[in-house]
Amino acid sequence: MTYGFDTLQIHAGARPDPATGARQTPIYQTTAYVFRDADHAAALFNLQEVGYIYSRLTNPTVAVLQERVATLEGGAGAVCCSSGHAAQIMALFPLMAPGLNVVVSTRLYGGSITQFSQTMQRFGWEARFVDIDDMDAIEAAIDDKTRAVFCESIANPGGHIADLRAVADVTDKAGIPLIVDNTTASPYLCRPIEHGATLVVHSMTKYLTGNGTVTGGVVVDSGTFDWSASDKFPSLSQPETAYHGLKFHETFGPLAFTFHGIAIGLRDLGMTLNPQAAHYTLMGIETLSLRMERHVQNASRIAEWLEKHDRVASVTYAGLKSSPYFDRVAKYCPRGASGLFTVQLKSGYDGCVRMVDSLELFSHVANLGDTRSLVIHPASTTHRQLSDEQLKAAGAGPDMVRISIGTEDADDLIADLDQALIKAG
Ligand SMILES: *Cc1c(COP(=O)(O)O)cnc(C)c1O
Repeated sequence: MTYGFDTLQIHAGARPDPATGARQTPIYQTTAYVFRDADHAAALFNLQEVGYIYSRLTNPTVAVLQERVATLEGGAGAVCCSSGHAAQIMALFPLMAPGLNVVVSTRLYGGSITQFSQTMQRFGWEARFVDIDDMDAIEAAIDDKTRAVFCESIANPGGHIADLRAVADVTDKAGIPLIVDNTTASPYLCRPIEHGATLVVHSMTKYLTGNGTVTGGVVVDSGTFDWSASDKFPSLSQPETAYHGLKFHETFGPLAFTFHGIAIGLRDLGMTLNPQAAHYTLMGIETLSLRMERHVQNASRIAEWLEKHDRVASVTYAGLKSSPYFDRVAKYCPRGASGLFTVQLKSGYDGCVRMVDSLELFSHVANLGDTRSLVIHPASTTHRQLSDEQLKAAGAGPDMVRISIGTEDADDLIADLDQALIKAG
């Protein structure tokens, strides 16, 4: 029996607590778990038996969240991490080694551009940035040292929608995984695995939790990639010395990447999500579809209104007929193009700063995907570390304001935007 999304977002992964019958998933606020006996402990440490050892690796509350997100994304398994950025490292860690490279879209969240272009260099990983709409450029950037292609389904902040099927055809041909950051879309609006993604990462900080209370991330594995088809992924296909020569792919099959993420990734990198945060995210996910529908409804109406405003030069919302990505909405995000977009003001950089300072209902914060409407000027904040060229490629020009439309009354949001646009000049 397969359930619909609205049912799964409430029930997937959860069952009444075996000890108490508690209907809601308890917060297992514990560091460690008592072993039945020494043999049980040994079996757990050898990965011969699945169970709980220590909450850096696994925790029952976090496990429910992992199963829930994996189910909503249509994946085989998932590993929760302490942030979206942690999830990106955790996704690449089993694939990469010094001297290897990853091909990355130029249209990414500003923090991700910095993480890929600066910090990953310290690991000896190279990031090769390409226009994700240019299949020839992606193919040309891939060589025998490339271990993945990384892009966002709906890009933050510009709302660009990647042609996932076309990119997946390129990665399939090259025999490497496609990693998709699905943060802006959420699995309610876009399911990248259905379009060929191998791994999906999220900042759960955003729409999945949905109310600005948590920093968290997750890596979902489709379970479909053949890690043993080439010698490119020895961490998954070759004997692991830290586990007496166990081969993850041979032993765990479609769960190889997930088990590696827990048994090696979380064990040694320690980017663990805490059970309290997992609880808040589980609460948020219960209403994901309801919230996303309202985000889309409000964003569509407000983007259309903004596009006609005389102080506005352009609006990037992919749900607008004027968007070059409008045709991709039906294919990749049939329930809508989310609630995030940028507005280009005729009054330039200074006008953007005045607008942000004048808004009253919108909060000026470095976040998105909250029930509250949020605004930020990327060029002076989240994308501040980027060069002019990177800003342009990322869709975050100096005259652009990023807006994350909340679930409030759209009339109130329009009234607030109108008064702030007039003050922007
Ligand atoms: C916020 C964000 C991230 C980083 O997530 P954190 O939880 O802040 O670490 C990654 N990708 C996208 C698209 C984001 O919006």
